[in-house]
This record gives sequence, C-alpha cells and structure tokens, in this order.
Amino acid sequence: MAKKQFKAESKRLLEMMINSIYTQKEIFLRELLSNASDAIDKIYYKALTDDRLVFNKEDYYIKIAVDKSARTLTITDTGIGMTKDELDNNLGVIAKSGSLAFKKEVEAQDGHNIIGQFGVGFYSAFMVADKLVVTSRALGSDEAYRWISAGADGYTIEPAEKETVGTEIVMHIKENSEEEQYDEFLEPYRLKAIVKKYSDFIRYPIKMDMTTQKPKEDAEGEFEEVTEEQVLNSMVPIWRRNKSELKDEDYEQFYMDKRYGFDKPLKHVHISADGAVVYNAILFIPENAPFDYYTKEFEKGLELYSNGVLIMEKCGDLLPDYFSFVKGMVDSEDLSLNISRELLQHDRQLKLIAKNIKNKIKSMLQSMLKDEREAYEKFFAAFGRQLKFGVYNDYGMNKGDLQDLLIFTSSKEKKLVSLTEYVERMPEEQKYIYYATGESVARIEKSPQLEVVLDKGYEVLYLTDDIDEFAIKVIANYKENEFRNVASGDLGFDVDEAGDQAEAETEEAKELFQRMGELLQGKVKTVKASKRLKSHPVCLSAEGELSIEMEKILKAMPD
Ligand code: ADP
Ligand code: MG
Repeated sequence: MAKKQFKAESKRLLEMMINSIYTQKEIFLRELLSNASDAIDKIYYKALTDDRLVFNKEDYYIKIAVDKSARTLTITDTGIGMTKDELDNNLGVIAKSGSLAFKKEVEAQDGHNIIGQFGVGFYSAFMVADKLVVTSRALGSDEAYRWISAGADGYTIEPAEKETVGTEIVMHIKENSEEEQYDEFLEPYRLKAIVKKYSDFIRYPIKMDMTTQKPKEDAEGEFEEVTEEQVLNSMVPIWRRNKSELKDEDYEQFYMDKRYGFDKPLKHVHISADGAVVYNAILFIPENAPFDYYTKEFEKGLELYSNGVLIMEKCGDLLPDYFSFVKGMVDSEDLSLNISRELLQHDRQLKLIAKNIKNKIKSMLQSMLKDEREAYEKFFAAFGRQLKFGVYNDYGMNKGDLQDLLIFTSSKEKKLVSLTEYVERMPEEQKYIYYATGESVARIEKSPQLEVVLDKGYEVLYLTDDIDEFAIKVIANYKENEFRNVASGDLGFDVDEAGDQAEAETEEAKELFQRMGELLQGKVKTVKASKRLKSHPVCLSAEGELSIEMEKILKAMPD
C-alpha cells in the first residue's frame, strides 16, 4: 500500500515538535497512557450499557513492556481499539478542533510547550521514538490493522493479526546521541517513576514486569532476582482523593491531561458533596478564554461520570450560560448509566447537582474577588463580558447571582471596583450611583458632563464595554441606589446657583441658539445654555431614557 502523507498541519507540527527544544520528553508516556485510559473508558461504558457484552473488571488494563535489546517500548491496552478508518483519521491528522487554536497560539508564543497545550498527544511519541507501529482491533470487528510511521514523511496501514480487542503501540526508541539521551526510556525503574509522576490517578491498572532483589528462600543472607508483574499506579481517580493530599500541581496536571484547556487553570475547586445529592466534582476557571469562546461554535459543559464511568463528555445542563467558561467534571453515584441525553435534562438529581454547582462557582468567584484581586481581574478580563450578558439575558432573572461579581473601572484611581465597594464608600448625601459611558477611559475622561459630578467629590463608574450600560439598566438599582448617567438631565443635586443664569442666557442668546438648532436639524433636539459646564465649551446631553451610547448601539443592531 502506498505511503500516505500526514495532513499538512500535522506535518508542520510534527517537524516542529521533533526538532523543538522540548525539555520534557518524558511526557510522551503520560500522553499514550491517557489515550489508553480513554480507550478503556469507552469500552467500559459500552460493556456496562450493552447487555450482550460481558464485563470483567480484570479484563481492563494497560501494560508496559520493555525489550532492551530490540530497543522497543510497548504499550498495550484493552480499550475499544481503532478500525482501519479510525487509524487513518485519528492518527493521521491532529485533532481538528485543535489545529486552529494551535496556529494562533504558536504565532503568539513560539511553540513553547506545545504538547501540553494542544492535545496532540499521540505525536509526542516521536520525541523519543524514530518509528511507531500501532496494531489495533476495534470492538465488534474481527479484523486488525497495523499503522506504521517513521515520522514526518508519512505512514502506511496494512492488515494485521490481533487476537484481542484493543491497541498495541510499539515504539522504537531512538539511539542516544551526543546531545540527547533516550536509554532511560528503556529502564523499568525510570518508567515507573514517570508513571507515578503523571499517571498515578489513571483508573485502570498500569502493569509492568519489574525485576527486584529478593531474599532467597532456602539460602539465608543470599538474594536472587525475581521478575514479577507490578501495578504501578494507585488508581484512585483524583476526584475521589482527599483534598488534603493533593497539591495545586495535581489539579493542574489533571486539567492538562483532560484537555480542559490549552492554558493553565486560574483557579480550581474540589467538591465532595454528601447532602441531598451525593457527588464529587472538580471545577476549573481557565486563565484565558478559548479562541472560540464568544462564538456560536463554543459548546459549554462538564464531563459527567456515573460512579466513575464517563457517560457524557460535555454535559451542558450542568452549567448556566453565564458560567459557561467553567471546565471540569462531576461524578455522581445517583445517576443511571443508561440515561440518555433527553432523559438527563429532566433528571431531578442532575438538576440538584447543577444548582449546587452554580452556587459553588458563585462563591468561588466571590472569594476570589475578595481575596485574590489580581487573579479575579485577570478572570474578569477574559470572562467578564459573559457575566454582563448573563445579567442582561433571561430578562434579568439571574442578576441577583451576578451583580456582585461585576467590576468596573472607577474614577477613583482608575481601579476596578465592584458595586459593593462603590456603595460602601458613597457619601451619605449621594443619591445615585453615577456612571459615564464611552469607548475608552480616555474618551470618557474628556467628556464634559463628567466634571460636575467629580467636582462634587462623587465617584463615577466608567463603562467602556457596549454591554455595560445594558447590564446596569437591568440591575436598575443596587442596594437601593439607582444608577444615573452623568449625561442625564437630572443628576440629583443642584448644580450651583447657575440654574437661573442659564435660563437667562438661553433667553439672551435665543437667536444664536435657534440658528444653531437649524443647522443641526435632525441631529439635536434643542440647543440651550448649560448649567453644568466647567472647562468645556459644549456638551451633548440625553433627555430620554436612553443614553447617547445606548442609542448608538441600538441603531447599529440589525432589526
Ligand atoms: P486526543 O487524545 O487529545 O484526542 P491524541 O493525539 O492523543 O489526541 O489521540 C488522537 C486520537 O487517536 C484519540 O482521540 C483517539 O481517537 C485515537 N487513539 C489514540 N490512542 C488510542 C488508543 N490507545 N486506543 C484507541 N484510540 C486511540
Ligand atoms: Mg490523547
């Protein structure tokens, strides 16, 4: 069979990866083990939900084998396997969704730590191997196929023999060179340490033959070499482990293994709930918004497990839209394995979990806002818009959950403040929460209407995002304080004694103002002397409900 070419992007990536100054070659093992574990998850789920399949827990495992003289490292799994087409599609092209993000990111950060960030796991094997032979038999098929590749120049697929369902990956480990060492990946002790470091939580046994020195039974004081199969990993999934035993790095590792994002998580929470509904969950706030976050393509959701078995990769019902940025998983014993997507939507337990999770996320964000300001501001820069949409959408139904989480730039030192902070330091006599709108803080600061309010010693929120004012209108009042645009006619305080004077001036300059009005016909309603200008000669002010900025947005919207 003719050699097939890797798809263009794969090829570029492969070359970059193989040649890049990638320091942690060892992570290839984590990648292959996590693929094996995913494959077992899939068959395990099938076995549990399909009566025709018999399920034996002992049948599901991963095996690592080393042959030093042949320089091969073999990883075998009893997972779901791959058909010929799957070998072609899954190993021949990099996860399609990842490729776009990949291009973007690489441009931004010269390819640093690509594998960790881009779910190109399988390819990482080429960092340590110069040839890969993948033999696989898919569940339900009696044919097996072999995929062979020696790197960037392509791969072949041919029929093969394989007795059992699953996948075997034989890696031909590179020879040591002057710059690079590879022999360590043929040392069982080294491999065991790598497994412990990255893959300890994998829920299926990872087995390997280990040779140890043992006291001889018949001869005292003498030792002999014994080779036994060992299970290398502890197998307790991270979400079932005790929080106190886990470090931040463990959660970060989990986030990366699970491909929840290409970044590092900004924050996580580990929940072990045993109240009205029993579940474990690990939730993450990503550091950056995924490239498609604010598009229709983005799909929210958490992984859903039923008693340790993955039943849905993206369960959208677990997250409200305004918290759609949250990544992570939920495992509950109270859910049925066989449950379909449609039924799940009506599941009472799931609804309870979703509500519970919503509250956890809310309090996680609240405590971040209070105690980890810098992280919160970073979070808000990435996802604040989503919270504001959340206030505005669904007829403001969720504003109660969200209004405390909003922050806006304030005239006070141009720092970001929450509404609570604003209200707490309002002078006694101040009637309203003031805000000014504009496309940037610099623009707002130039606005003539701002001055009187600032001169009065009041703080003003600078709303620069087009959704801001809509959100504020929906909130309407915060702790009994209404919002007021500094450009509005009534500011709630007397602007000097200039009132009468302004009227007199309007009268005086009647002809001038009339002429101005004519020239600006259709653009302004009236031209009159203003009571509130200080250093600026002229300002626009809105009389109706809508501010000038909102009118602009509404006009720009399609009907
Ligand atoms: P990812 O795991 O992020 O999808 P990988 O490059 O690690 O990306 O793997 C690509 C795909 O190849 C997997 O999604 C899976 O469909 C398939 N695959 C890889 N290894 C195995 C395996 N051991 N058993 C079955 N399928 C596998
Ligand atoms: Mg993978």
